[in-house]
Amino acid sequence: MNESLDLAVVGAGPCGIAVGAAAAGTGLRTVLFDRGPITASLLNYPWYMTFFSTAQKLEIGGVPFTIPDSRPTRRDALAYYRRVVKHYGIEVRQHHTITDVARDEGGFRLSVTRRDGQAFTVQARAVAVATGGFHEPNALGVPGETLPKVHHYYHEPYPFTNQDVLVVGAGNSAVEAALEMYRNDVRVQLVHFLDRIDRGVKPWVVPDITNRLEKGEIPVHWQHRVAEIGWNEVVLRHVETGAPRTLPNDAVVAMTGWRANPRLLRALGVSIDDDTGIPTHDPDTMETDVPGIFIAGVLAAGHNANKIFIENGKEHGGRIVAALTQSGAP
Ligand SMILES: Cc1cc2nc3c(=O)[nH]c(=O)nc-3n(C[C@H](O)[C@H](O)[C@H](O)COP(=O)(O)OP(=O)(O)OC[C@H]3O[C@@H](n4cnc5c(N)ncnc54)[C@H](O)[C@@H]3O)c2cc1C
Repeated sequence: MNESLDLAVVGAGPCGIAVGAAAAGTGLRTVLFDRGPITASLLNYPWYMTFFSTAQKLEIGGVPFTIPDSRPTRRDALAYYRRVVKHYGIEVRQHHTITDVARDEGGFRLSVTRRDGQAFTVQARAVAVATGGFHEPNALGVPGETLPKVHHYYHEPYPFTNQDVLVVGAGNSAVEAALEMYRNDVRVQLVHFLDRIDRGVKPWVVPDITNRLEKGEIPVHWQHRVAEIGWNEVVLRHVETGAPRTLPNDAVVAMTGWRANPRLLRALGVSIDDDTGIPTHDPDTMETDVPGIFIAGVLAAGHNANKIFIENGKEHGGRIVAALTQSGAP
């Protein structure tokens, strides 16, 4: 069990895989660990979604992402990233959760727990933490949020057919979920604390959602927040007046974003900016202020997951491996 690696990568999402691809052929003994299957986060995305990036922009390690259309679907991406793993022979330990990383002589000791509960440690001279930003949903923080009718991950409209569903938020995920439900016989409404959809909504989606909202085909409650969730209704409150508004309701789809959990980094003593949530690191090497600890992917964006995504987070892998091979490993 006391295996010794040159590089342990925590997380086999697209950006963790990019580290593995960059390490392939360099002689660095590298293993990726993921608490779920390969690209576990993407598995939890809306099942029929299309990426906003083109396939070329999502390519990793020079492996062509060949599809007949410009933008890939979730299914295309799931198959593609598995192809990259196979192409480079990247070792991924799926369903292996890294519960702790501690300094140890000659590097670091990773505590690993498998899904059968077996726990053991692995040694590594360097560690790249690529655990993403999809750990925990941003909670509404209201009574009733733990009811099973409240969902922070949206997959498809069919569980909600002929039901009253409230979508919370007006970003890409919220707008696309609302449109898909509207087109599949769901009585969907939208609530947002601002008075417009988010600026980051995909340009080709804006006309569609704007028309649905203006025509009242998707009723919208601007400048309101969810105040309380009951089994058969939700209570909204106006952000300024506090005036309540009660809606009949069967389900709440809270598209309020997710956030990273930098717990492993904090435990190692990596400094994390309180305001931005960004771990201190050198952007040229992605090495943190704890030598031998690197970060990759959306985790490096802190609270603002829109700043780093696959298109740019995939570059981190090359920088990490270059730093390791040039320095002849720490
Ligand atoms: C609906 C949607 C559409 C998107 N469209 C695009 C797009 O078009 N273009 C684009 O560039 N980006 C897009 N993104 C963003 C993109 O998916 C993320 O930025 C990307 O997944 C980040 O990759 P990552 O490898 O950093 O993190 P993740 O993909 O989140 O991977 C992190 C991995 O770490 C694992 N993990 C976490 N903690 C542990 C632990 N303790 N031990 C072991 N494993 C652990 C997780 O299981 C996960 O597999 C989209 C996101 C969403 C939600």
